[in-house]
Amino acid sequence: MRIGWSGLKETKKEGKVTDKQQKNGIIYLVGSGPGHPGLITKLGYDLLNTSDAVVYDDLIPIELVVALPESIKRYYVGKRAGHHSKPQNETNDLLCDLAGKGLTVVRLKGGDPMVFGRVAEEAAYLKEKGIPHQIIPGITSASAAAADAGFSLTDRRNASWVMLATGREAKSASAPVPWEDVGKLDGGTIVVYMGVKDMERIVKSLLEGGMSPDKPIAVIQNASTGIHQTVRAPLSKIVARCQDANVVAPALIFIGDVTGQDEFSLPPKDMPLSGKSVLVTRPAEQMQGMCDLLRDCGATPVPYPTITLTHASDEGGWIGFEHTIDDGGWCVFTSEAGVRHFFHELLVRGFDHRALGRFKISAVGHGTSSALKERGFVADLIPERATVKCLSETLVEKGNLRDTSVIRVRGNLADSSIEDLSAKAGANVVALNVYRNTNAQWEQNWIDKICSSPPDYLSFTSGSTVDRFVEILGIERAKEVASKSRLATIGPPTSAFAEKLGLKVDVEATTFTVPGLVDALCEDVLR
Ligand code: SAH
Repeated sequence: MRIGWSGLKETKKEGKVTDKQQKNGIIYLVGSGPGHPGLITKLGYDLLNTSDAVVYDDLIPIELVVALPESIKRYYVGKRAGHHSKPQNETNDLLCDLAGKGLTVVRLKGGDPMVFGRVAEEAAYLKEKGIPHQIIPGITSASAAAADAGFSLTDRRNASWVMLATGREAKSASAPVPWEDVGKLDGGTIVVYMGVKDMERIVKSLLEGGMSPDKPIAVIQNASTGIHQTVRAPLSKIVARCQDANVVAPALIFIGDVTGQDEFSLPPKDMPLSGKSVLVTRPAEQMQGMCDLLRDCGATPVPYPTITLTHASDEGGWIGFEHTIDDGGWCVFTSEAGVRHFFHELLVRGFDHRALGRFKISAVGHGTSSALKERGFVADLIPERATVKCLSETLVEKGNLRDTSVIRVRGNLADSSIEDLSAKAGANVVALNVYRNTNAQWEQNWIDKICSSPPDYLSFTSGSTVDRFVEILGIERAKEVASKSRLATIGPPTSAFAEKLGLKVDVEATTFTVPGLVDALCEDVLR
């Protein structure tokens, strides 16, 4: 049974789900692409973002999952510490269970699910159970790796065929790859997936089969990420060269004359953060911008949010706001999240932007004022320094607050200095809570990865991100990770928070914004 994708999305959007779909659900087996989150197809991305649940493996760009709306349930079925992936039957049962609840599920797989992605086994199982499913192909890592290294798999001057092989056939139930016979082939390109650990055995068989020891080889690790590396050597020397370069999975082995070329690879851009990995702990909904900025500077973001922002329903605050609409006053925003949740709720409550017509607007800094500008509001007051303290002092100094209403748009953990100082200056203060900070959960494998190979930088954009990071790892492990990385904060209040918890701050932004923090990292690398 095939279901038109756009048709299904329409029924979902309009909430008109038929009985049949309700009973069955549907599974989309989607290729995530090989590493860069932009390399998923548009169709795959749209399905992911409109699904009810996502079931994902290792080797998918985790940013795609992390950035999903909270309402989409996530199920990780990749490797646990020291263990192999969840047994296939457990994954099958999970898919069956979710589909049985009538859900639209995306089964997200690395690269192209059709290439060493076990999609056939999952699809056969779904077919047997009568569960509607559809395969959405993706970009396989071989294509991305060849693009990184600058050769074409089928450059007609050197290759008239391509062979995709697994290097792990010896350890699986698959038929053996006849490596010695492959060694007799010429005039094509051989790509070996999952072959790094067994490279010595494969190379030996190829040589025994008669392949020239001078045959050009390229081994490409972490394709389409900021930390990709390519090792090139003739067949007889490639194992030693890879050992020297410490090549580990995920990597692909390319065998063939095409790999000797890099005619069309662009010269590496001058990227200040090339080769650096940066832990990004900010809330998922605010993560994207920072990850994009980091990637633009050559870094590899490690997007593990420590907190989640959810909508708050502050009945009293909104009644207070309603009473001030006719006379206006000041409306004060201290975060992009505050802007986003305020305007969302404003419209939900049946107001429109004219409700702010009589208000002057204050924004703590660049990020907040940009978020306001996107909604058609230019801030009347932005303090010299982007801190809540500086904003409250400037507001008191310049805002003529006596008998004026001050609407303080805030999250549940915000500091109350604006309320306190404004009230002292004679203002009628309405604290309006529009969002809540809650703890984000980390997968066990995220904790394992951070502890076993700490990123070059740990970045924090608020005290609560530091607090939660320490809570997730425990103070001893947090200190250990921090001692092997460089800890960077968005500004003094966040640094003070980290130091209070016993963590040493290595880098502090001088402009207290996300771009300011990324600039500070770039400067730190140059030191
Ligand atoms: N379906 C995936 C392959 C899964 S098998 C695809 O189409 O790419 C897993 C193997 O793929 C890894 O062991 C490695 O050989 C390769 N691989 C996956 N992602 C990679 C990456 N970013 N860089 C290099 N090799 C990668």
